[in-house]
Amino acid sequence: MPIALIDSNNFYAACEQSIDPSIINRPLVILSNNDGCIIARNAEAKALGISMGLPYFIARNKLNKLDIEVRSSNYALYADMSQRLMSLIKENCEAIEIYSIDEAFVKVSSNSCNLNHWARQLRETIYQSLGLPIAIGIGTTKSQSKLANHLAKTTACHAGIFNICNISEQDKWLEKVAIEKVWGIGKKLAYWCRLQGIRNARQLRDTPSNILKKKAGIEGIRLQRELQGKECFILSITSKPKKETCVSRSFSRPITRIEELRHAIAIHVICASEKLRSQKQYAAKITIFTRTSLYTSTFYSQSATHYLNIPTNNSKILLSETLRLTDQIFHPNYLLMKAGVIMQNLLSEEYLQLHLFSKRQPKEITKQERLMETIDQLNKHYGRNTVQWGLCGLNYAHQNLQKYSNSSATTCLKDIPIVIA
Ligand SMILES: [Mg+2]
Repeated sequence: MPIALIDSNNFYAACEQSIDPSIINRPLVILSNNDGCIIARNAEAKALGISMGLPYFIARNKLNKLDIEVRSSNYALYADMSQRLMSLIKENCEAIEIYSIDEAFVKVSSNSCNLNHWARQLRETIYQSLGLPIAIGIGTTKSQSKLANHLAKTTACHAGIFNICNISEQDKWLEKVAIEKVWGIGKKLAYWCRLQGIRNARQLRDTPSNILKKKAGIEGIRLQRELQGKECFILSITSKPKKETCVSRSFSRPITRIEELRHAIAIHVICASEKLRSQKQYAAKITIFTRTSLYTSTFYSQSATHYLNIPTNNSKILLSETLRLTDQIFHPNYLLMKAGVIMQNLLSEEYLQLHLFSKRQPKEITKQERLMETIDQLNKHYGRNTVQWGLCGLNYAHQNLQKYSNSSATTCLKDIPIVIA
């Protein structure tokens, strides 16, 4: 059964443009949290030479000069658009592996004799429903479909669709894909390949496998076989449980008071514990960290870790444990610019192991779990932070500097545009 890789082009920028037609066909960049640095660009901004990861305070003048639109990131919008995109794709395929926020591998029924027709229709439906341009690569394996997707994006005459299975002169097309662009080839391996004279996907496919195995092991051989059209990477239809969950943000201005650091850490812990509950997981280890700006001459970075006797996703317990740790990472002599929380050693809610000497009774645990469930439901139904922890409610000026926000037209009732007919 053929495999297609469906990938939205410049996803964050495309989402912003789909809810604000005034910026369609305009160069556009998206900034990270608190407008820190450039995390996404559309094709027009790329063509103007704007690089990824550039801090906004360095890029600002150039962006103004080139008349480039700037938007603060809006993750609620991107997550919502991603859900809509994936459900549309699901309706049009046999099986789906959601690979990232804007990418999915799908199996297409072998009955669809005209795969190109299927791909054209799907592309049209997605553009019409969501305003998102997508590229579709089709192959017999995941690696082939990844390659085909790259060719779909880079070959204008193929209009966003490339089917490697039925193309004539397959070798010629594979030679167009530089070794660095092959899925699964990292920087080091690409460097080694270049030294061996392997410069493109076709040469990698035809390299003697014993040479490749020596350097890249069994994974290298699997990749080579996939390029030859033999399926080695199976579509994983069920999502894998997460190993870690991290929540971190840069501050809108440097902070020097421990109360502000506590406040930031508390907000991150509450957010991370909500995520754990939605993932149906407990954390057995929690790490908090803070650091100064990367662009300061007096750099400081510190972290602290706590192991929990009984793994939990209870906000109250996680909050009390982490607030104690804050004293260990705070330093009054530095201008702190970022803080975060990492929930680690995650395990499924199904396998909770109680502790022999713990004073917490199973009855008490169940009661607390019901409380968390109620809080989550209230916040989901009536909006974020309808019920919140006292410490998180205090208003500090280090939060949420998002000067260039678009509306949340797909997730917030008050932002829905009004059409006068
Ligand atoms: Mg993409």
